[in-house]
Amino acid sequence: MTHVNPNEKETIETGSNFIKKIIDEHNRTGRFGGKVITRFPPEPNGYLHIGHAKSICLNFGLAQEYGGKTNLRFDDTNPVKEEDEYVEAIKEDIHWLGFEPDNEFYASDYFEKLYEFAVKLIKKGKAYVDDLSADEIRAYRGTLTEPGKNSPYRNRSVEENLDLFARMRDGEFPNGAKVLRAKIDMASPNLNLRDPVMYRILHAHHHRTGDQWCIYPMYDFAHGQSDSIEGITHSICTLEFEDHRPLYDWFLDELEIHHPQQIEFARLNLTYTLMSKRKLLKLVQEGYVRGWDDPRMPTLAGLRRRGYTPEAIRDFAERVGVAKKDSTVDIALLEHCLRDDLNKRSPRVMAVLRPLKLVIDNYPEGQVEMLDAVNNPEDESAGTRQVPFSRELFIEQTDFVEVPPNRKYFRLAPGKEVRLKHAYYVTCTDVVKDAAGNVVEVHCTYDPASRGGWTNDGRKVKGTLHWVSAAHAIPAEVRLYDHLFSSPTPEIAPEGKDFTANLNPNSLEVLENCMVEPSLANATPGTRYQFLRHGYFVVDPDTENGKLVFNRTVSLKDTWAKIQRKK
Ligand code: ATP
Ligand code: MG
Repeated sequence: MTHVNPNEKETIETGSNFIKKIIDEHNRTGRFGGKVITRFPPEPNGYLHIGHAKSICLNFGLAQEYGGKTNLRFDDTNPVKEEDEYVEAIKEDIHWLGFEPDNEFYASDYFEKLYEFAVKLIKKGKAYVDDLSADEIRAYRGTLTEPGKNSPYRNRSVEENLDLFARMRDGEFPNGAKVLRAKIDMASPNLNLRDPVMYRILHAHHHRTGDQWCIYPMYDFAHGQSDSIEGITHSICTLEFEDHRPLYDWFLDELEIHHPQQIEFARLNLTYTLMSKRKLLKLVQEGYVRGWDDPRMPTLAGLRRRGYTPEAIRDFAERVGVAKKDSTVDIALLEHCLRDDLNKRSPRVMAVLRPLKLVIDNYPEGQVEMLDAVNNPEDESAGTRQVPFSRELFIEQTDFVEVPPNRKYFRLAPGKEVRLKHAYYVTCTDVVKDAAGNVVEVHCTYDPASRGGWTNDGRKVKGTLHWVSAAHAIPAEVRLYDHLFSSPTPEIAPEGKDFTANLNPNSLEVLENCMVEPSLANATPGTRYQFLRHGYFVVDPDTENGKLVFNRTVSLKDTWAKIQRKK
């Protein structure tokens, strides 16, 4: 795998979709009668992540473009790891992403048919029951440089194989006692063709077929045949299956059934992100995160809770494109796509995350003014709202210092004048400190002639601060997130440790005493805002009984745009 530096132009393949070229060629030659039927085949053993989103966008996108269809097929051939919870979550996530499958199928629906296919291969002398143990099979397989050895059971008669396979199904043998193998070539340079296992004995309860079966087909035997049964034309999968394609083709050729074209593309890898479901499951099970929908998770459920929009994710999938070579995409690109979308749709509001009291000494006590505020400068139709202004406000602690660090400091400091957004100019006159010497209150005066936040006397006021009126502000909890991992390559664990050693100890910061403007009082979970100067935020489902909880979706600082400008 190459780790692509985002500064190199090749990172993103724009437009050049090699899969479309293959489909165009099929349409030209009439291989599938002009049809395009794709499928998205998740194994229901975890939640979908951003990598799956790329595959979904690709499969559904191609079908849409060619007027075809896309099936959702649960690849549920491994009973021990699969659960209905995952099935439901997967359906919800695909819907949320904006796609509706034309059909919803389960590989387990084909168990009987797959069994018949296996019998057909046995009858053709192309499959046999093997008594070797898993370890022996491995030892007999050989290596990349040495051919394998034939199993002593390889030349069983068709009759004996049919009998044994039926008895495997009937539950006569314990787990691991026998397997059914394809009879191909133990000397093949492709290890996948050295008599791969087609069926194994597993006395396990299946989430849909219950205890009906105690033999289960292996991925390689189930997948292509399921594609064939559904009339799939283009079976798109990730690169690691390239070496399995000859086997995919072998089964279909031997069975003489509809033969889809398998096409491989590079899986999506993202910096600072892990996508293996096994590892994500560990994070959930061992409590490193709150659940599959923890806003730091790369799952669609997590991204949704974090405030991601389906549009941003689809845009990202489009921009990443499809490649034939593995690479790692900078997560800054995903965040860039997100900002792009949120910028257009998010109303701007004022929220103070770390409040500091600001008292305007010359503003009349008890007076409240309602000031006009533009909701979204990017979208005129979003209109305006009224924000209350009064004598006592909250500003950010970080917007005040007693001693400015340099001449470029434009925020508030003793003697300095700043603009309060949508309101007035204020000049700092004094501070109040606690016993420990911390500033607990800042005093200032305001200029009534600067109403709306400007004057026509040519006065230069560079700093603009956001604020909330103390008497009107609504308390809120705000959760700030950083990358879940501190390493850009979290799968590479430090010596002697596992990937959890790469977890970022500061990936979550909870601010419990934030103050937001009163227009947010009844904000409902899932609603998105831009908090001026802070970034994009979404109301978290933990919001209840008037206690507002926000997640920071993404900050305003666009590192991707910066990288692009430097080019
Ligand atoms: P994981 O390794 O995370 O468990 P998987 O490939 O085993 O992933 P499946 O449920 O089998 O997960 O995947 C369903 C489909 O999604 C497959 O076609 C697979 O190729 C695709 N897919 C999974 N991960 C990625 C990824 N990172 N980028 C692109 N496609 C992916
Ligand atoms: Mg898989």
